Amino acid sequence: MEKKHNVIKRTLAGMTAVMCMAGCLPALAANAEDKGESYGYHEASEQVAGGWEVVRGDTSPESNPDAVAALDNALKYLDGVAYTPVAVLARQCVAGTNYCMLCKVKPVAPKAKPSYQLVYIYEDLKGDAEFIGRTTVLNSPSEGATGGYSVNDGDTSLSAHEDVLAAFNKAMDGRVGVDVRPIAYLGSQLVAGMNHMLLCKSTVVYPGAEPSYSIMIVYEDFNGNAQLSTSQKIDFGNISEFNRTIHYIANEPTCTKDGNIEYWYNTSSYKYYSDEKCENEISYEDTIVKSLGHDFDKPVWTWSDDHTSAHLTVKCNRCGAKVIDEDAVVTKKQVYPATYTGTGFISYVGTVIIDGESWENNCIVALPKLTYTAPAISYEKCDGAVKLSWTEVEGVDEYGVAGYTGGKWKLLDYGKGTSYVLKNLKAGTSYKVAVVAKAGGQWIKDFSNAVTVTPEIVSYYPKFRTQVMNGKICYKWEAVPGAEKYAIALYQANKWQIVKQLDSSVYTYTSPKISGGYYSTVVVAKINGKWVTAQAPAHAVTVSVN
Ligand SMILES: [Zn+2]
Repeated sequence: MEKKHNVIKRTLAGMTAVMCMAGCLPALAANAEDKGESYGYHEASEQVAGGWEVVRGDTSPESNPDAVAALDNALKYLDGVAYTPVAVLARQCVAGTNYCMLCKVKPVAPKAKPSYQLVYIYEDLKGDAEFIGRTTVLNSPSEGATGGYSVNDGDTSLSAHEDVLAAFNKAMDGRVGVDVRPIAYLGSQLVAGMNHMLLCKSTVVYPGAEPSYSIMIVYEDFNGNAQLSTSQKIDFGNISEFNRTIHYIANEPTCTKDGNIEYWYNTSSYKYYSDEKCENEISYEDTIVKSLGHDFDKPVWTWSDDHTSAHLTVKCNRCGAKVIDEDAVVTKKQVYPATYTGTGFISYVGTVIIDGESWENNCIVALPKLTYTAPAISYEKCDGAVKLSWTEVEGVDEYGVAGYTGGKWKLLDYGKGTSYVLKNLKAGTSYKVAVVAKAGGQWIKDFSNAVTVTPEIVSYYPKFRTQVMNGKICYKWEAVPGAEKYAIALYQANKWQIVKQLDSSVYTYTSPKISGGYYSTVVVAKINGKWVTAQAPAHAVTVSVN
């Protein structure tokens, strides 16, 4: 025990022995100030500081198997001393559990005498247990000494000691307000009468009151009168003898909880060591292995079918926890509309902000090309021209009129309107034309609406006027669509004769001086390589030349 757990005895231990001889309970009231010393008793560590929770119910070892298991575990390597749990009195929740229990402690040796001690055990979260310290409640007198207690080495239950129970009940007779029950009989001392020492549980008669535990001494005189002599409340954590070092086994850190290296803590010096011999001092911080933080798996985004909502889930690879499980704020960004020539795109962006960190996901949705329907063309024939009209097509920039010549489509003209006049069309000629549209800066080459048109020719004969001046005939005429040449015809010598040919760009002519008389004359046109003259006489006029 001494070797294994390195228990040190404090100055109080000596005092305990002395005062026990006097029948008091100094160990429970341990205070170095009694001796006028300033160092005295300190809290050993966090583990034995406040926060003890007393056992409210049954204190028997049978009813507190966790405490008994921790005790067995802490003392499993201990040879030579037997610890018999008598009553489990309190627990303290630390990083693990501290237990305080009253034990009968007896060396395994012939004629060995027992003592009673409050034994403190720390059990960590993994179930490893350490002996923290002890406070002696009752010692057997040393060999040869007289006047000490006769320590109970048998059954501690009061039912086995009816005479003590009777004395206790007598001493308690008439007391009200506090329910005091004897739990264990520890021993008796012969004085001028008898002192009986008992572990008792006191509960104020009040609903929910927390019990306290005390070591009580009942004095019984020779006449059978009994009275309460001493009552000392047990102050848990007020440990008189400490195990000097506590061995902490290594604890792996988790995602969220710090772990620790294997280390030893000296409860006297409050120092930490990385070795069992306590030679290599380290700081408390050195013992800590920082929590690992979650190991984020790939973010998993879930989008609703209509892309109006999104959800982000991120799991931890290590512990499997859903580290992020949040609805995103969805915004529509960068909208490229679909056109007749190109696919459109909508970008939906889901954003989740966690602790100032932004998680984003882009969901790009393609919009199919718009279906193009070529404008429907209608047309009307005009004199030497055709007026095209067409239906509007939504979303186009402008329209173009294309003509089919030489096996190819050729853009003739373009603009924003929905009608166009094809001029200067040759009579008797067919023209294949189509209306195309430009969208997104590109011509949509859909000629499916092509139509074949021919101009209406009202007259192949130029309308003309004549005027006679100074014996000359002046002609002025209007163009005939498709005319390649014009000519002046004159009826002379009983027949029509072409007297002058003129280019198609010429619309006036003045004849040479001619002798007076009446002349029939007409302006004709050459179309498609032939002079149109058949109806010429009908279009002729008679001119009088003086
Ligand atoms: Zn994790």
